[in-house]
Amino acid sequence: MILVAGSINIDFAVQVQALPAPGETVMGSAYLVSPGGKGANQAVACARAGAPVQFVGCAGSDAYGDQLREALQSDGIDTTSLRRVDGQTGAAFVTVGSDGENTIAVASGVNQALREADLPELNGVTHLILQLEIPLETVRAFAQAARRAGVHVTLNAAPAHPLDDELLGLVDLLIVNAGELEALCGAQAGAGLEYQLEVLSGRGPKAIVVTLGADGAAFWTNGRCHRSAAFAVQAVDTTGAGDTFVGVLVAALRHMDLTAAVQRASAAAALACTQRGAQISMPRLSAIERLLA
Ligand code: ATP
Repeated sequence: MILVAGSINIDFAVQVQALPAPGETVMGSAYLVSPGGKGANQAVACARAGAPVQFVGCAGSDAYGDQLREALQSDGIDTTSLRRVDGQTGAAFVTVGSDGENTIAVASGVNQALREADLPELNGVTHLILQLEIPLETVRAFAQAARRAGVHVTLNAAPAHPLDDELLGLVDLLIVNAGELEALCGAQAGAGLEYQLEVLSGRGPKAIVVTLGADGAAFWTNGRCHRSAAFAVQAVDTTGAGDTFVGVLVAALRHMDLTAAVQRASAAAALACTQRGAQISMPRLSAIERLLA
């Protein structure tokens, strides 16, 4: 069983020609309302890739909370640890440009209410996935409990945030995009990618994956840096590509090594770029396998 702990949001997305500059207003298309939040997205990506998944998080007492719970359940995800909290469900306001790039502002709502006490029993859990849209103390407490229980810990350090070595030392697999890597690198920010990965791995994580958008991914494992190309697709909306990558990667790690898992995650993330939305654009196992064949 994979346990995903994190945020659950309702996404409002508008498509525009070019992303607005500060102070600018641009006119867009009809807007899309769809389920999102890094935690919930990664849980859905994992489940569609064939893994049994449990989600732990907080949904609000508004109508969105119930809608989002049902969306997870429709993907077969165990939601017994999704707590209903009085208040607003998290919401993300996404702007998507014609090249598929996006900007996102998030109102956390009750995602900030997730506490150490929400962690369910870890019996039967082999992998834990965490991100940074919930309180950092909760991320730390969950990682500590997982480490004690011998559960493999993946931290997707997103949104960008500097982290201390104590937390990095609890992480088996760290996944970041290029901006998040810079935020973690401190004195090494701006240095070459390989050097940054070598220094960062010395701070604790056993393996590190950096996603590089259309340039694919780089990963550090066993003291070496490797590269993996992206799959060529016509990208219409990259929202959720990173979350698809994380969820599918961890689902794949149950059966294969990191090199093969990164390739599978890249295929899934490329497919997610070909449709609008976050969870609604995430591929199922059959589509991932067709692209890999
Ligand atoms: P987002 O926040 O938009 O979900 P991210 O910044 O977390 O994404 P990226 O590095 O942009 O993550 O993308 C994650 C992965 O998705 C990449 O490593 C790559 O495999 C795939 N990907 C992203 N953009 C493209 C693209 N244009 N074509 C093919 N694959 C892509």
